[in-house]
Amino acid sequence: MNLLIVEDDAKVANMLKQGLQESGYTTTHARAAQQAMELLDQNAFDLVLLDLGLPGLDGIEVLRHLRAKHNSVPVIILTARDSVDDRVKGLDEGADDYLVKPFAFPELLARIKASLRRSRSEGPVLTLADLKINLVGRSVERAGKAIDLTPKEFDMLVYLLRAGGQIVSREMLARDVWKINSRATPLDNVIDVHVSHLRDKIDRDFDLQLLHTVRGVGFVLKVP
Ligand code: CA
Repeated sequence: MNLLIVEDDAKVANMLKQGLQESGYTTTHARAAQQAMELLDQNAFDLVLLDLGLPGLDGIEVLRHLRAKHNSVPVIILTARDSVDDRVKGLDEGADDYLVKPFAFPELLARIKASLRRSRSEGPVLTLADLKINLVGRSVERAGKAIDLTPKEFDMLVYLLRAGGQIVSREMLARDVWKINSRATPLDNVIDVHVSHLRDKIDRDFDLQLLHTVRGVGFVLKVP
């Protein structure tokens, strides 16, 4: 398992390198976004730990670069920024998880294991009726027609599909897709907007509607 650590703070980077190596991981370290992008273009990593506050280009640019190239390597953002906006932004751009500094090392290890498990256990394709989701290429099609989703819409769709026809509440989406546990955050509108865009994209041009709103409860993806 080869992990890329993108971190400009030498102290933090060394702590991560040492801890991860002791836990059996191989690590590569990049100090800046440009260097990280070059390494990612030339090597296959199993996971990326990404600091956002970097000199020069922001860490978010690394994430954009990766996802624009359809590179689906799991990315965990590690940053001192803990505002809801920053989290939503990071996850919207296709990060898999988000950990706010300072964090306990065992917590990081647990998140890494969970992300690696998710990325390994996923078969290449999930389907529902004529909807097809390729988990590796992160592409979606319906009846053979390609559908362009944002990273967050894609993650929501996969989450809804994995619910296996069960209703998914806004709280579940906030917790598991946006990774935000606090119920005080005004995320419901953000979620509703994303669901509405997702529905437009996957259902609008088709007779068979798959994404349904269950009033007052949440959403369900199923063949009615
Ligand atoms: Ca930093």
